[in-house]
Amino acid sequence: MAHTERKDPPGADLRGWLDLLQATGRLAMAASGIDLRFGVAGVANRLDGRQVSLFPRPGGHPVPVVSGLLSQRAWMAEAAGVAVDDLVARFQRACRSPLPSAPITGAPPCQQVVHRSVDLPRLLPLPTHNEHDHGPYITAGLLITRDDATGRQNVSIHRLQLSGPDRLGALLLPRHTLALFRERERVGADLDVAIVIGADPLTLMASQAAVPLGQDELEISGALRGSPLPVTRCLDSEIMVPAHAEIVLEGKLLADVREPEGPFGEFPQYYGERAERHVIRVTAVTHRENPLYHTIVGGGLEHLLLGAIPREASFLSELRRNFPCVQAVHLPLGGTCRYHLYVQVDRPAPGEAKNVILAALGLHYDVKHVTVVDTDVNPHDPDEVEWAVATRFQADRDLLVVPAAQGSKLDPSTANGLGAKMGLDATIPAGAPPMRFTRIAVPGQDSLDIDALTAPAPPDWRDRAR
Ligand code: MN
Repeated sequence: MAHTERKDPPGADLRGWLDLLQATGRLAMAASGIDLRFGVAGVANRLDGRQVSLFPRPGGHPVPVVSGLLSQRAWMAEAAGVAVDDLVARFQRACRSPLPSAPITGAPPCQQVVHRSVDLPRLLPLPTHNEHDHGPYITAGLLITRDDATGRQNVSIHRLQLSGPDRLGALLLPRHTLALFRERERVGADLDVAIVIGADPLTLMASQAAVPLGQDELEISGALRGSPLPVTRCLDSEIMVPAHAEIVLEGKLLADVREPEGPFGEFPQYYGERAERHVIRVTAVTHRENPLYHTIVGGGLEHLLLGAIPREASFLSELRRNFPCVQAVHLPLGGTCRYHLYVQVDRPAPGEAKNVILAALGLHYDVKHVTVVDTDVNPHDPDEVEWAVATRFQADRDLLVVPAAQGSKLDPSTANGLGAKMGLDATIPAGAPPMRFTRIAVPGQDSLDIDALTAPAPPDWRDRAR
């Protein structure tokens, strides 16, 4: 059988990614039968950032659960086949040059088994994660919708509450899925949806790309893998889904229906409140033989980092368009990978750092506090950024506050999303005498071969030191 020479990056295939993690000591297998209620989340959280966790027969259910697929920045880079320092640039390139998906010929793996009688908790192992969550949630479902006018698809992840055997409550924040749904609801029609669980890691990352409406995130997955993503058509709609996905739910976002959803433990480490929200009716479930069910524990590293890298890529592209002085951006964990943005600039013109702040605050409603630093400060190290604030920032001169702007509804300190934005210019003030802000440094320190020059001191160090 002829095979092409091209080799997909490790994250192009979920089961292959798990093989790689197993072979490198990063796949932990839990005891059989761990409780779906809090048990799965507890184990996954304890291993968060160190090992992926695999749960055989969770709560006695025949379908295994897997969690923590991408819980380190370095793993995301590995999945994409690049060095960690090149991850954001790789993602930027993929967003700039998406690759159309390719329908497969033959029977799609994701439709090997078809269920028309939908009883979600019987078919799938649905975990309950945090203490006050309303109950089981689907948390790693890629919601795919299609704009009938243009034929263009959208992919995003929404928290999906189990509300009935074939019913899910969905939180739609004011972005693309909601825009497409409103078009349909305006004429009294439902919106077809597909919910993909157990996509490959690159598609999981691509789903979080901050690209314009009309851009099918699956095409960014294709660009990341370096070849068209194999897709197949849903049974009940025109939606194209990744053909090798483990599980696909097909259904409709219901027009003019709202039902209570929440509370649910979210990325800021607080609960999203219970409120009237959108509803999906599931009409079919298809899956591979012996499928894997992926869950993302709310507030864990996978949840935080999945949002961070794609946003960093788009924020960097956006800022550099107007400010060539911008060198790098970072969304630190301490800011829940959403609210705090660090921006590194190279010798900005007088006042330019403040313009960068103004632009950065408008990038996304989640961006709440922006700190701008110079190139001698590593923006990926929060200690370095704090040092710059401690030594280069004066609040009366370098602080910008914008009251009552649109913020994150999940930030409990806002008034339902209405909140202040803040910018800190921690760059060296224009015109400062050069010596005043020169970092102390020992010449030659970094190039020393410290192992050749030193060794552990022996017990007779007092004599030997003479
Ligand atoms: Mn989109």
